[in-house]
Amino acid sequence: MNRAKSGESAVFYRNPRDEYPMLVRAAGCRLWDDRGVELIDLTSGISGAALIGQGNEIVAQAMVDQISRISYAHTTGATTPAQEELALRLAALAPNGVNKVMFCSGGSEANEIALRITRQFHLARGEPKRWKVIGLHPSYHGATVGALSMTGRWEINRDYEPYLFGARKVIAPVSYRGPYRDLSPDEVVTRAADALDSAIESEGPETVAAFVAEPVSLSTGMSVPPPGYWSRVREICDRHGVIFIADEVLSGMGRTGKFLALDHAGVTADITTLAKGLGGGYVPLGAALIRDSVAEAIGAENRRMAEVHTYSGSAQSCAVGLAILGIIESDGLVAAAASKGELLGSLLQHHLADLPWVGDIRGLGLFQGIEYVTDRDTARAFEASVDLPGSLTDAMWQRGFLSRTMHHSSALVGDVTTMAPALIIDQPDLEDAVCALRESINEVGPSWSKA
Ligand code: PLP
Repeated sequence: MNRAKSGESAVFYRNPRDEYPMLVRAAGCRLWDDRGVELIDLTSGISGAALIGQGNEIVAQAMVDQISRISYAHTTGATTPAQEELALRLAALAPNGVNKVMFCSGGSEANEIALRITRQFHLARGEPKRWKVIGLHPSYHGATVGALSMTGRWEINRDYEPYLFGARKVIAPVSYRGPYRDLSPDEVVTRAADALDSAIESEGPETVAAFVAEPVSLSTGMSVPPPGYWSRVREICDRHGVIFIADEVLSGMGRTGKFLALDHAGVTADITTLAKGLGGGYVPLGAALIRDSVAEAIGAENRRMAEVHTYSGSAQSCAVGLAILGIIESDGLVAAAASKGELLGSLLQHHLADLPWVGDIRGLGLFQGIEYVTDRDTARAFEASVDLPGSLTDAMWQRGFLSRTMHHSSALVGDVTTMAPALIIDQPDLEDAVCALRESINEVGPSWSKA
């Protein structure tokens, strides 16, 4: 593999010692590196953003058309047809009672907006003492200071602790490892939801502003909370007057087989954040979908959010968002994510479940995880020093696949491969991918056990 080396580059890489492959071309689910090596992308551009695949001509044309009409006007003083239309389309896809949308440039910003809307809501209702946020451990909500504060991944936010506002975390409803292991799904729901209830009680409900959670999270290795968890969360938040923020930056836009992952549970959040697939990897675009009760309370008091970003609601980004939504709808990609996700889940079970290093396979739609263990009985995870992700990613690359495996330094999650391909991936590619993963695990797995 040809890699760009830090010492030879003017780019300040996020890990200055890392080396990166140089990708030069993409079409659909295919990528090419600078040596012409072709790869099938199982990651939607590594971050999960490239939801409809790359190089789409309709999206390219929408960009050109928008630039030639109007490329930009700041949303403090004007709006554009693209912004208006995208808001209407998203509101139509959101659950009933969600009809307002605020745009921004990505997932972290969307979660910051959610935080500020939450605050405006409580101020509008005459509850200025409500500012605390409760989140889940593990979780990820972004890289800006507010989003990092809400994030429950110590390895990511510990260096910035002095800047963070210290959002309390309760344990996510993860049952493969940790305190909820060996409990029935109903017991997991009771214990995990009671933990949230107790946290709100002990903070003082009159001080708690919001509970934030990802309906299906990369940080939990795509664990799917058991049925009933989200309706209990909804009930607890309602009882305490706490805003429920669903971070669907990664799980939204159809990835799990429904427009929102929370739609599987039939639960509506007060604020839902979207990004990634909304801009599809083509443009920076995020959004907060706001429930009527929240928007109306803020509107009734005529409260305004003075702060805004330069690119919030950019006509260019919104035009691309509209084109992507059009493709998702015309090509039936949400239903495709459901059926292909089912196929992928059964392929993973069929080809991987017997391997001694594979502890768990789980997920929803085209958002599946494979977790690796040293011992299937105890679910013991590998140490970071094994570098399981490095060896497996390389082995997959050799077989022509761009894959993503992460080491989570949490007691609840270990090394997990994320399967999150674009929703346009076809069956033969999925079959080949799972066979390549089996071969790769068999090739490098023995070295993990020895390390
Ligand atoms: N929330 C979730 C669930 C995410 O996965 C991410 C990014 O990975 C973010 C928020 C942050 O989004 P962005 O990187 O667009 O700021």
